[in-house]
Amino acid sequence: MDEMTRDQAVVLGVSMAGLLAARVLAERFERVVMIDRDPLPPAGGHRQGVPHGRHLHGLHPRGREILDELFPGFTAALTADGAVGGDVLGDLRWQLSGHQLRQAAIGLPALFASRPFLEGHVRAMVRRLPGVRILEQRSICGLVATPDRRTITGVEVRPVSGGAPDRIPASLVVDATGRGSRTPVWLGELGYPQPAQDRVEIGLGYATRNYRLRPGAMNGDQMILTTGTTANPRAGVLAATEGGRHMLTIAGIRGDHPPTDPAGFGAFAASLPTTDIAAAITGAEPADDPVPFRFPVSVRHRYERLARFPGHLLVIGDAICSFNPLYGQGMTVAAIEAMTLRRLLVRHAVPDARRYFRAIAAAIDVPWDIAVGGDLAFPQVPGRRSAKVRLVNSYLPRVHAAAAHDEVLAASLVRVIGLKDRPQTLLRPHRVLRVLRGSLAASREPIVAPGGRARADSPAGQAAQPAP
Ligand SMILES: Cc1cc2nc3c(=O)[nH]c(=O)nc-3n(C[C@H](O)[C@H](O)[C@H](O)COP(=O)(O)OP(=O)(O)OC[C@H]3O[C@@H](n4cnc5c(N)ncnc54)[C@H](O)[C@@H]3O)c2cc1C
Repeated sequence: MDEMTRDQAVVLGVSMAGLLAARVLAERFERVVMIDRDPLPPAGGHRQGVPHGRHLHGLHPRGREILDELFPGFTAALTADGAVGGDVLGDLRWQLSGHQLRQAAIGLPALFASRPFLEGHVRAMVRRLPGVRILEQRSICGLVATPDRRTITGVEVRPVSGGAPDRIPASLVVDATGRGSRTPVWLGELGYPQPAQDRVEIGLGYATRNYRLRPGAMNGDQMILTTGTTANPRAGVLAATEGGRHMLTIAGIRGDHPPTDPAGFGAFAASLPTTDIAAAITGAEPADDPVPFRFPVSVRHRYERLARFPGHLLVIGDAICSFNPLYGQGMTVAAIEAMTLRRLLVRHAVPDARRYFRAIAAAIDVPWDIAVGGDLAFPQVPGRRSAKVRLVNSYLPRVHAAAAHDEVLAASLVRVIGLKDRPQTLLRPHRVLRVLRGSLAASREPIVAPGGRARADSPAGQAAQPAP
């Protein structure tokens, strides 16, 4: 490796995980080269490589905090540019397992904006970092390794318009190319074992439409989130975005997918476990036609279990683990992973792969358990239900029921969902006592969302828990 390449990191993929990785790599490497096959539009513009960008993207409190740490003034800058602020419990209507959490301001800010707006702003901030260069419209074809294949020394890229491939040297390559990552295949080609996968076949179908709502349609709230119940697994989230619009994403599992013709889309929205979202879009002016997305399976690549892995190559973001998007965790987990990488970069310019993947696995465990555990509450989702999953899935609906009347519990719950606190906080003895007392009281009452806004049709169903 010559002097020129010793201080160059290359990041594959210029989406959220790649951008956050580049941000922390720029602290340690003189040059960071980012590569993507898309032409990258200004903030707010859609692009082919991120088709999920057309669907609602909630940013959890932990993710927003990390973005503010990595890019000081991030929340303020986006809000000044049109993103919508609010309180994560005071301004959000959380309807979980057919229970609406008691609303109360808890001083935890939420930020609402579309995915292209969020990503575009992060991209603009990364572009301004000294030493970072973004190469657009280049397809990554493969890795370059030393003759003994022990160390990755660069990547091969080709212009999407065609032509001969080019080699870009690097002392560290970070793969952030998302669910379609080719690292498992490249490992095989280099003679390494491929990582095992954990998979949960959720068979999720999304559809999304933007609206201009009539004044007062949200009753002052910034988001209504209705999760599925075991009796009715359909879910929906209606949230404010920049530009005075609201985005509605509706979803169903195991093939029960929302239609994309306007009438069918409206009928599906009206069939959610509560009627709040249907009421809010009544009389609204649609800004576009519904668009679909299919997410068949959550996948976690177990890189940390590999006995052999080449040096100077790491993987981040959806390329390691892509969760059921209804839980809204992906961007926040990518941010947590970037902070993990930052911690390891402090000690060694090029982190040891085994140490890195172990640390990443530890960061993924909780969000993976939340998403997978939630999915396995639905009987139609195949998979083994461990004793822990069964216990949590019988406890959570009780937490939801109690939190409908107890703002302390509601605050604890949204902090856990927002990846601020560990789920164990809900299992502390004083919390368990509140849950038992509260859920007993709730079971003596009809299940009506506070404020009389809506009626849930299943008192006992377990819910998935999407993001603010
Ligand atoms: C429908 C849906 C809804 C979601 N909702 C939320 C949400 O509410 N909240 C949340 O936090 N997360 C959500 N997520 C997850 C979130 O989008 C991702 O976790 C996050 O974007 C991190 O992804 P990534 O950067 O790892 O990969 P991606 O966003 O998939 O980006 C991969 C990048 O790599 C580029 N690329 C791929 N292959 C190549 C190649 N061969 N050559 C060159 N470039 C290449 C692509 O162009 C793209 O830019 C959702 C996901 C989906 C699918």
